[in-house]
Amino acid sequence: TDIDWGAFARALAPVEVINTPVLVKKRSRDFFWYSPILNAELKSCFGDLVARPRTPDEMRHVLAVAYAHDAPVVLRGGGTGNYGQAVPVNGGLIIETTAMNRVIEVGDGFVRAEAGALMADINAALIPQGREMAMFPSTQDIATVGGFVAGGSAGIGSVANGALRDPGNIIALKVQSLDATPREHLFEGVDTLHIHHAWGINGVITEVSLRTVPTRDWVGCMATFDRYEDAYAAGHALARDEAIACKLVSTADARICAYFPRLDGHIRKDRHLLVSLLPQEDVAAFRALITQEGGHVDLTLTEDERIEAKLPHVFDFSYNHTTLQVLKADRKATYQQVGCPAPPDPRAIARLRPQLGDDVWMHHEFARVGGQIVTFDLPIIWFSGRARLDQINAIYEDNGFPVHDAHTWRVEGGGLKTADYRHLAWKKRLDPKGLLNSAKSAAWDSVKHLSAAEIEALETAQ
Ligand code: FAD
Repeated sequence: TDIDWGAFARALAPVEVINTPVLVKKRSRDFFWYSPILNAELKSCFGDLVARPRTPDEMRHVLAVAYAHDAPVVLRGGGTGNYGQAVPVNGGLIIETTAMNRVIEVGDGFVRAEAGALMADINAALIPQGREMAMFPSTQDIATVGGFVAGGSAGIGSVANGALRDPGNIIALKVQSLDATPREHLFEGVDTLHIHHAWGINGVITEVSLRTVPTRDWVGCMATFDRYEDAYAAGHALARDEAIACKLVSTADARICAYFPRLDGHIRKDRHLLVSLLPQEDVAAFRALITQEGGHVDLTLTEDERIEAKLPHVFDFSYNHTTLQVLKADRKATYQQVGCPAPPDPRAIARLRPQLGDDVWMHHEFARVGGQIVTFDLPIIWFSGRARLDQINAIYEDNGFPVHDAHTWRVEGGGLKTADYRHLAWKKRLDPKGLLNSAKSAAWDSVKHLSAAEIEALETAQ
């Protein structure tokens, strides 16, 4: 860009700016390096300047300055996304939200917080009042609630409470436009989906209201099985058992567990693992279920016992933390995101495993979608090139397991397989110059000359 960044920084005053090149570079990255493909494509993309507004008014000022200078803008919370969502592919301004971090209101069944609040801090504010977030990612110590709503989809709690997009989970969002005079819009109920999972391309979230649920005395549980399909079957039985109020159910292939050194001596070696979080009063029922499913209960730990034993949270072995445990030891590992046909069928998993080969190790998460239990696979893949990855994807898809590619930095490439024209119509309304993270949408260039109503009509036609 041919922007005078010195003048730009001065125009931002009194907003805090970061312009030390090494610090700007650090804030230009996220967890895209989980993918060797994304790593090659994104590792040299850096922003020019970072702004750190503290209040909605400061945010408005930053956006007005960006508009006046035609500066590309990328929002950044904790920078824990896995697809380069927060990488400034076109350079420009990075707006870090972490100084806008107040928990504003703990209400009846909801919490309202500024977008830059860390999810661990929100949970810490809720737990003394007997509540907790309905779901949160295992990155809660460094990830923001605004980043979760803009870039995430589900997490710990989703086996009970569904995905973020399910009705009632996102209650309201306050969103600022990137305009000459930035305006604030309130999206409520299903309208929040116009902004959710849009990767910050169509508005700047300043405040989030999310559903909360009663907190419980959670017990971290681990069980092991001789066969992977038995762990998977037990996971399904556990997730759908109405008498056991789990908030997490995950299974991991025994070969993955060899990369969990902190569990040495706590779980049986060379066995397939099931991890879960469930209330203290349901532990006896959990034990009975595992025995009935042919497994072995290795560990049940209350939070106090876990701290005493110096063990990690069970959720450090779930979702993308599982991948991280392997990556810590060997950077040749990567992963993929694969949907599984519903209802979960252990026989289909048993048929698929040998077809995949020794370089693909399954790991399943259980979640509730529309009231039904579904699973998705986040396998460890030993990366040996794009051609083999394509082959692995094809094996999954030929067996009826849809791949939601984790190795693309376009919003339409992963979870959303086609363009979301409602997202793009709102981009036209709230970001008329197309400055917000525009490189991330492959479809934007082909619709940006249309009116918002014309873009929206494409959604109906699709
Ligand atoms: P960032 O990475 O900073 O941003 C994410 C996206 O949101 C970017 O496109 C950014 O531009 C945009 N954005 C950020 N703030 C705003 C704002 N205020 N307004 C508009 N746009 C904004 N994800 C899950 O959904 N579930 C999981 O269980 C999960 N587990 C994970 C485990 C590991 C180990 C890792 C590395 C990642 C995991 N993720 C998971 C992905 C990621 O951690 C979460 O989505 C997280 O909530 C992102 O928050 P963040 O603050 O780091 O967002």
